[in-house]
Amino acid sequence: MKPDLLLQAPEVTHSPAARLVPNSALSIQPCGCLLVLDREFTRIVQCSANTGNFLRVAADELLDQKPEIALGKRLAGRVRSELRSSERLSGPLSIQKDIDGRKTRLQVNAFRSGMVVIVEIEPITPLGNRRLMGTVNQWLTKLARAATPGALMDILVAGVRDITRFDRALVFHFDDQGHGVCLAENLAKGLTPVLGQRFAASDYPEEQRAKFAEREVRSIPDLGADAVPVFSSLEIPSDDAGRIDLSGTVLRAPSRRQRSFLDDFNARSLLSIAIVGQTGLWGMVTCISATPTPLTPTLRDAARTVVTMATQRLFLLKARIESRFLLQVQESRDYLVEDVKAGLSPSAMLEKYGNDWLTFFRADGLACKTKGGISGFGVTPPLKSIAQIARGLEQRHGQGVWASFRLKDEPVAEGIDLKGCCGLLAAPLPGEDSEGWLMFFRPECDALVCSPASERDLHRTFRTWLEEVRGTSEPWKPVECQAAGDLGEDIALLASASEITRLNEMLREEQQALARANEKLREAASHDSLTGIWNRYRTEQELDKELAKARRHKLPFCVLLLDIDHFKQVNDTWGHEAGDELLRHIACTVDGVLRQEDHIGRWGGEEFVMVATGASREDGVVLAERIRTAIANVRINQMPEGVTASIGVATWRPEDKRKELVARADRAMYAAKTAGRNRIETDQDL
Ligand code: GH3
Ligand code: MG
Ligand code: MG
Repeated sequence: MKPDLLLQAPEVTHSPAARLVPNSALSIQPCGCLLVLDREFTRIVQCSANTGNFLRVAADELLDQKPEIALGKRLAGRVRSELRSSERLSGPLSIQKDIDGRKTRLQVNAFRSGMVVIVEIEPITPLGNRRLMGTVNQWLTKLARAATPGALMDILVAGVRDITRFDRALVFHFDDQGHGVCLAENLAKGLTPVLGQRFAASDYPEEQRAKFAEREVRSIPDLGADAVPVFSSLEIPSDDAGRIDLSGTVLRAPSRRQRSFLDDFNARSLLSIAIVGQTGLWGMVTCISATPTPLTPTLRDAARTVVTMATQRLFLLKARIESRFLLQVQESRDYLVEDVKAGLSPSAMLEKYGNDWLTFFRADGLACKTKGGISGFGVTPPLKSIAQIARGLEQRHGQGVWASFRLKDEPVAEGIDLKGCCGLLAAPLPGEDSEGWLMFFRPECDALVCSPASERDLHRTFRTWLEEVRGTSEPWKPVECQAAGDLGEDIALLASASEITRLNEMLREEQQALARANEKLREAASHDSLTGIWNRYRTEQELDKELAKARRHKLPFCVLLLDIDHFKQVNDTWGHEAGDELLRHIACTVDGVLRQEDHIGRWGGEEFVMVATGASREDGVVLAERIRTAIANVRINQMPEGVTASIGVATWRPEDKRKELVARADRAMYAAKTAGRNRIETDQDL
């Protein structure tokens, strides 16, 4: 059979018999013929007008006859027995017919559709010297070696085009919203590429996609060929006849939608094979040509085998990519365990992992909201907006992973400044009364488009697509939501560990401040603030200790009371500041003159008391003399001359109480003043 016979208009044998009723609802393409049989496969109830072309029996001679008349006894018997136990033939069968004196093989396919059995018959064109098996095997081998989905798609379009010889082979992918994109293309020289072209979901609605996923193959060798009517037996009610569903056939006439799609491409022939995943139609391989392209069923089936193989490989590669993604996130989680121990803060965590996570999650921005505050990384809405969104999520959605690729239309984002962020994936940080969230932000979908300059109609669908995706981001995959949830759990741990570290830090600082204050207090309680030596209170304590020791061991000691001479004049002449400075220097100088076991305290004003342990009166006088000389030599910057001091020395007596002892020293000191100052007096005669 010549290839163009497939395309030629049917020779419809119009029978004078009134039994032939063209069914206006049903027609097929002229490249094959069609029989519809009753459920039991005993009687032909409908047939296409062109049976004469292929089966050598006119349509009117077939209606209401047994299938054997059309198919021969053996083939009819085989179809009947196979369909007894299944919905469709396990594979195509073939018969040989003499057409115009030539032996022609016909491919026969049969399947149950509702209450009838549909049989499709198509001629098989010899392939000449083409070695189809070898070609198919070669492409299957290449597909099996493809390392990435992109490489796989490129091999797929090259293989399918090589087998079918169409002008152009494309892979379309439909995303979760039904928007299409051309992911791969192989085309003849001189054609305008449409790689990257987007198609609006509204141009290929959900139910169409669902139907195509079931039927998988669509073939239109010539859009311009006249449709062949299908005749019905008068014995079936015309209502029932019209209700027969031909949509599962390869031969069905092109739909309005298919015509408009081909018009958009200025194409005249089409072959589409579905790429079906577990969740339905993932995409399709579509071949088109500007001229009619007859395609014998053998080549069509070969192309389908290549697509089936590519589909399996595609989902394997995708599963690998997903598992690599999960592995990468898992790796971050392993590191996070270490960070929890180290008490890393959420903001330091974002600095550390932010870049990796943005890459893994294909996001532009990242934020972490914990009790301690909000930290952001990359491109995010303002921190204030993030806080508002988090509050909204808690009120409206509780504690679960939440994702949106159209954030602006979500009630949680109403009236909030999003700064161009269109997608949000939010994972809660679980914990007691936690208000924590991990958030990923995505920008608007990038229109990675090569919009063809010449095809005006493609611009239309592209513009529709743009309208439909405006303000939306790339949607979040279930595996991304799952991984974000897992990450959220770890970050919750890290956040509370970091909070504990922070509180401990605060506690430690407060404790240190308290210790410092206590130390100051202790110091203030026993030391004089101007000179740093003991104050009067501490000196009295020491005197009491010394008195007790002296009583116990009968060990004498001396108390020296020192008063600076004419100190009022120092203040009056050189200023109070100079007076202070001088007091400090004198305290320090006297302290330096004393032995290790002796003590000095400020008794008040310009008076000092020294306790000389184990000292006799003579020892006390010697010490007082040393002190007097040392004081006379003290000089400070502000004063050209020094000062003198008068010292009273009192020696312990066994009956002494503190007051009496100090009073004797005081009297001795006054005696020194009276005697002319700058001298020492003892309590010997007092
Ligand atoms: P006398 O030789 O009789 O002891 O004469 P005086 O001027 O030292 O005695 P008086 O008791 O009349 O004066 C003591 C002065 O010491 C009065 C006071 O202004 C001064 N003074 C007391 N405490 C301080 C102090 O902490 N700093 C300074 N700059 N002056 C002080
Ligand atoms: Mg005095
Ligand atoms: Mg004085």
